[in-house]
Amino acid sequence: MRKCSPLSYSAFFLRWCPLPNKIRVRIAPSPTGTLHVGTARTALYNYLYAQRTKGTFILRLEDTDEERSREEYTQDILDGLHWLGIHWEEGPDIGGPYPPYRQTEKINHYMTIAQQLIDAGKAYWAYETPEELAALKEEQRLANQAVRYDNRGRNQTPEQIAAYKAEGRKPSLRFIIDDNQKVTWHDEIRGEITFSASELGGDMIIVKSNGVAIYNFAVVVDDIDMEITHVIRGEDHISNTAKQILLYQALGQTHPIFAHVPLMQDIDRHKLSKRVHGEAVHVDSYRKNGYMPEAIVNYLAQMSWTPSDGRELFSLSEAGEMFDLNKLSKSAAVFDVQRLNWFNGHYIRSLPLSVVADRARAFLDQDQLKEFSTAQLEEIVGSVREGLTTLSEIKAATNFYFAQNLQIPQDVRDGVLGNPNAKKVLDKALENLGRMPWGDHKGCKAVIDAIGKEISIKGKELYWPIRAALSAKTHGPDLGTMLSVLGEEQVRSRLESAMNLC
Ligand code: GLU
Repeated sequence: MRKCSPLSYSAFFLRWCPLPNKIRVRIAPSPTGTLHVGTARTALYNYLYAQRTKGTFILRLEDTDEERSREEYTQDILDGLHWLGIHWEEGPDIGGPYPPYRQTEKINHYMTIAQQLIDAGKAYWAYETPEELAALKEEQRLANQAVRYDNRGRNQTPEQIAAYKAEGRKPSLRFIIDDNQKVTWHDEIRGEITFSASELGGDMIIVKSNGVAIYNFAVVVDDIDMEITHVIRGEDHISNTAKQILLYQALGQTHPIFAHVPLMQDIDRHKLSKRVHGEAVHVDSYRKNGYMPEAIVNYLAQMSWTPSDGRELFSLSEAGEMFDLNKLSKSAAVFDVQRLNWFNGHYIRSLPLSVVADRARAFLDQDQLKEFSTAQLEEIVGSVREGLTTLSEIKAATNFYFAQNLQIPQDVRDGVLGNPNAKKVLDKALENLGRMPWGDHKGCKAVIDAIGKEISIKGKELYWPIRAALSAKTHGPDLGTMLSVLGEEQVRSRLESAMNLC
């Protein structure tokens, strides 16, 4: 029997070795902003890992920042993840069936755990005012020293404490970090990581003076309570991990396996941020701009991971069958919208037409849509989807279908309708409208070809006048589809109007 290492559930071992415990992973966004593509990517890797290992994917809202957390951000995060198809098995779902996992519901619980640290002599109440702490920082900066808490609260005498209390000062709870130790862990993506505890900024606040637990403490309590086995998150949290490991040790707990995913950068290698990139980091802006969730998911997943068979295009469920955490790349992931567009074009062309047509509705004029059946809409979308990068282009690509008074631009009039054969073609087409099998695009095109033979005109000279009459352009969707979707009445009136311009 092969030996299974709990630290490395590679694809091979997963197939052959029973898992000792069910894997539980989570995404823990703070609702202090809308869903960032980086958070979506981290959520995706967690989700895929849970899928691959038949584990559980959990959503938890880290909402203890009462000033910056907003309900509308929570909704945006939940909606964005749902839109991408990243569904959680446990977590908050407004109006949904899942239990709410929000840190604000556990404020008292964090305090109970904090009390255990106080009782064990591992944490103390420190009474410095924000002004005193700011002055300490300034002093260190002027002396060119690393900015850190100097652990002065460890030496407060009972008399000083009594005086601070009498002054009405509100203390913060600090966790004791012994500088003379190293924190080392095996990171699933980055290998061994070591920190000297002296780099961690001194005794750290774990409960603020208003009684609210801070992230580094609450996250440890939550990950223990929820029996999280793997913490997969952005590499901006690496130094937090060192602090968190010390907290696990102080609480007598083994820490989960950590995997720090490289952050995303733009093509100029700048970190993707809301401040610099605005709406380009907001998942919902992609939905609004006509991106397919399948394309986003595929693009984000393959940024730092390639399936073992090397394929580039895959669905969320295929990725869930193949995903291998150990194969995630350590290098920064570059977000290149051109490349995302390539994925998007692929999915617009290859998803079932009924799905694409249904999604296209939101990008078309709602009143005009009423005049077309679902089958006609599918024909319209099907006739242009080859040329689309995003669904937001669909209105411009299809507007001629809906136009009441089509205006043919001067260059098309001169170049196409000015040709002496154009009048002949349009005339003959009008004469033969009765032969058209409306609704059958191949049949309609066949009638045009037959007419061409009868008048000995073919190719551009045959097709372009009709195209110009129907769409005001010489290039575009299949001619038979245009005829068949527009129908007899519209085709007649458009051919007649074009005749008048010949
Ligand atoms: N709330 C943290 C964030 O959004 C969570 C980090 C973690 O996964 O521990 O970055």
